[in-house]
Parts: sequence; structure tokens; C-alpha cells
Amino acid sequence: MTSQQDPPQTPSQKHTENCMVCGLELHYLDRPTSNTCIYCNKTEEGYFVCPDGHYVCDPCHSAGALEIIERACTASTSINPMELALAIMRHPRIPMHGSEHHGMIAAVLVTAHKNITGEGTEDDIKEAIRRGSQIPAGYCGLFGTDAAAIATGIALAVILKATPLSDLERSRSITMTSRALAAISNNRGPRCCKRSTMTVIEVATEYFREVLGVEFGHVPAARLKCEHSHRNKVCAKEDCRYYPG
Ligand SMILES: [Zn+2]
Ligand SMILES: [Zn+2]
Repeated sequence: MTSQQDPPQTPSQKHTENCMVCGLELHYLDRPTSNTCIYCNKTEEGYFVCPDGHYVCDPCHSAGALEIIERACTASTSINPMELALAIMRHPRIPMHGSEHHGMIAAVLVTAHKNITGEGTEDDIKEAIRRGSQIPAGYCGLFGTDAAAIATGIALAVILKATPLSDLERSRSITMTSRALAAISNNRGPRCCKRSTMTVIEVATEYFREVLGVEFGHVPAARLKCEHSHRNKVCAKEDCRYYPG
């Protein structure tokens, strides 16, 4: 069952915008309810429900997507984290919105840094995905911070091998997050994981140059247009600088 605006989808295709089971628009809540994941049967508290009662936990929602992200990043020779993220987001297993983006953002930054400097390992990429994936979906609306921004801080923390006892490494990672957060807080309209991804990678490209002297490849602003606005029912359109028009 799909709502009228949804494009037709084959049964094997994941519903990547709304409920991944039935395609209905999810209801977001400001108080959690107890739900049981229809795939792994785990019961947990969640901040979103499908009107038909389907619930899919974050690990089940992102299964497949995380493997795609890991495969793409560990095989990549790109020094352009934006191009890499844009390519990954074109994959049909990557949903319009979702916590998959958190691991992806951290991973593309670590990957581009590894490719440009020759420093870092495949395990650093996996660690970036592992940490990014721990930030739940919906964080931006509920916790007064944004997971895409935190993902940039994760990338720098992985690269600098920061720990809670580090001094400068910890400070720089947190500064990365704060810069990305400031940029995201100026975006208008409801959350959009595509817009947040592009925003924070632009900011990270600047901050990595400033603090690490690393010159990432970038996508020129005039060519940086969203390829997914048609999938997003709450797209901010003219209020988003990536809206293609
Ligand atoms: Zn549903
Ligand atoms: Zn599950």
C-alpha cells in the first residue's frame, strides 16, 4: 500500500522516503513509544511510527546501505568527499533520509583524507562508519544537535586518533562539529539528510584545509545541485541553496 504521491515501486525496492515497509508517511513524535521491529523482533523505544504500525529499528533500516558505504569508501581512490557522497547517495539502497547518512559522511571524509595523504587505513573507514551509525535517526529534531555535523567531528576524531584524554585533537574534532552545526542551524525548513550532507561536507572541506592543510577536491557551488528533491515531500525548495529549481 502506498500513498497517492508515491512513485510506483517494485516489491524488492526499499521504500526510501517513508515507512520502508508500506511507504506511508512516518509520524514523528516528541515522546517515544515502545515498538517492536518487524524484521529483528527487537523491542525498543522510538520517536517515529508508521500509521499502519510498522516499526523498523536503525540497524535493520540501514542494513545493506552500510555495506554499500563501506564497499564504496574502502575501494575509492577519490580525494573529493562531496563527489563520493553524491555517488553513494545515488545508490538505490540509500534512503532519502536516515541514519545511514551519519556513517557515510564520516566515512567519505576519512576516505578522502586517507587518499590524499596516504595516512590512515581501511579500519579507520570502518571505524568512522561504526561511530557514525551509532547516532540515531531523528537526532536533529530531538537533541538540539545534528548528526551530520557530529559525523564531521567523528571523521576528524578518527583521523587525529582523539580520545577523551586528548587535548588539541579533541578540541579540533569538537570545533569541526561546531562549525558544521552552525552552518546546518542556518538551513530553513524541515530536516533533509541530503542538504545536511552537502552542507557539512562543504564546511569540512574548509576546516580540513585550515587545520590539517589538506586540499580536498570539491564540487563547484554552481554545479552542486540536489538530485533528490523530487523524492522529498518536505523539500524546502527555494529556501534550499541546493534546490535545482
Ligand atoms: Zn508502514
Ligand atoms: Zn530490527
